[in-house]
Amino acid sequence: MLDRRVRRRLENQVGPGHLRTAAADLAAYAYDAYGAAGERRLPDAVAFPADTDEVSRIVQVCAEHDVPIVPRGAGTGYVAGAVATRGGVVLNLTRMRHGLSLDREAARIRADAGVITADLHHLAAAAGLYYPPDPGSATTSTIGGNVATNAAGSHALRYGTTADYIVGATAVTADGRVRRLGEGGAASDLLPLLPGSEGTLAVVTDVVLRLLPAPAARVTLSAAFDDLAKACACVAALSDAGIVPAALELLDSAALRAVAETGTVTVPAAEALVLVELEGDEAVVAAERETVRTTLEKAGASIVDSASGADAHRLWAVRKAVSAAVATLMIGKVNEDVVVPRDRINELVAEAPLIGDRHEVPVVTFGHLGDGNLHVTFLIDPRRPGDRRRGDAAAADLFDLVLRLGGSLTGEHGVGTAKLGWVERQLGAAGVEMMRRIKEHYDPRGILNPGIKVPGRVEALEPAAV
Ligand SMILES: Cc1cc2nc3c(=O)[nH]c(=O)nc-3n(C[C@H](O)[C@H](O)[C@H](O)COP(=O)(O)OP(=O)(O)OC[C@H]3O[C@@H](n4cnc5c(N)ncnc54)[C@H](O)[C@@H]3O)c2cc1C
Repeated sequence: MLDRRVRRRLENQVGPGHLRTAAADLAAYAYDAYGAAGERRLPDAVAFPADTDEVSRIVQVCAEHDVPIVPRGAGTGYVAGAVATRGGVVLNLTRMRHGLSLDREAARIRADAGVITADLHHLAAAAGLYYPPDPGSATTSTIGGNVATNAAGSHALRYGTTADYIVGATAVTADGRVRRLGEGGAASDLLPLLPGSEGTLAVVTDVVLRLLPAPAARVTLSAAFDDLAKACACVAALSDAGIVPAALELLDSAALRAVAETGTVTVPAAEALVLVELEGDEAVVAAERETVRTTLEKAGASIVDSASGADAHRLWAVRKAVSAAVATLMIGKVNEDVVVPRDRINELVAEAPLIGDRHEVPVVTFGHLGDGNLHVTFLIDPRRPGDRRRGDAAAADLFDLVLRLGGSLTGEHGVGTAKLGWVERQLGAAGVEMMRRIKEHYDPRGILNPGIKVPGRVEALEPAAV
């Protein structure tokens, strides 16, 4: 509970109506997209700053009183990272969404932290430019949240993640100082640390991103397989054929059934579906299209369809529908984003259903096949006794498997609180110590997102019930 004086001071920074403390308002901020799996943690207040100065003043007040601050964009994160593990103030940045401008000559876009990712895509495309990072949540997520999680997406295979595009930012550090970093500001060690920092080092209030020229041609191929292992073997086959797709995506049979059950999209009868997107010069894409078609057929695809322009949406529709479709199967999902080396993908997809069977939780697998970043998703109903525990146990077995395969616990969603207990297993004590030192350097009092991403010296909080 916030001290009344602190609350009054915070209210004075953002103005009437922009600080919420009523229980009904706070409840909406007790979870992010991971919350469907049952995690709830209440903040003491939610502040809605209008600009960088207001963010700075709120952080100063919180720093003076040792009140935790939880930066938050759209709350689409899948790891319970934008939730208050120790109370304090959720800093909702979605009012800061009006600053969005493009410099065509310089191929740069500047965006306030609360700008929706898709708005940035549209502005770039209208100018004949291209911003490749495309999380599946792009129509909802904010660019500040994308930076904080180093968001990726289907096109990360060829173009990389948000970290590869950020060239400048305004950040408010834990003492409330406003720092302009990179292009248009000072050279700084902090800028390259922001992507993936999950709100633990600074609050990002605006960003400058580099853009690419839009590809002249783009074509999508969709291939249906009667066997999941054959579908996974496409990765090596396409690589052997010298193809670097812009995107290479997979849906297993459970994912296809989930989409089919929605009745909104035509789904081919198959055990697995692979989508390949090619981008580049007209002539290159045309030649690659034929190579990819032949390669997919040789790999055992029963149907290969291809489309370009607006018609390509027809092929992407199945992939785009999958997250929402899976959510209709059961009320909760533990949606992991594990990564394994590409030559170990087959072992991951073969073992995932066995893990689900062992813990009696249905499992659906889909995602970014080309870079071994797959969303192994366990379905649970948190209202049912034992389901939450079974989901967590299945996730633990999955993490165990992934580390044995030489992979990583997260390819794009981050650590949040959901994977905090596993960080040391992956990075080792020295890796965690380095994270702590960086955290302590930028946030010595530990007020920015405590209990998120960086394992504490004394850890693991039990989930707080609401
Ligand atoms: C349907 C669906 C599909 C998804 N697909 C993908 C995908 O393909 N690729 C992918 O990478 N992710 C994906 N995600 C996960 C999620 O959308 C991303 O992590 C996204 O970047 C989060 O943005 P947000 O604005 O919702 O951030 P939030 O969820 O609000 O916050 C996420 C983290 O960032 C911190 N944060 C937020 N804003 C700031 C800021 N301005 N300054 C400092 N810290 C901040 C928060 O404290 C928190 O730790 C998906 C999620 C959903 C629901």
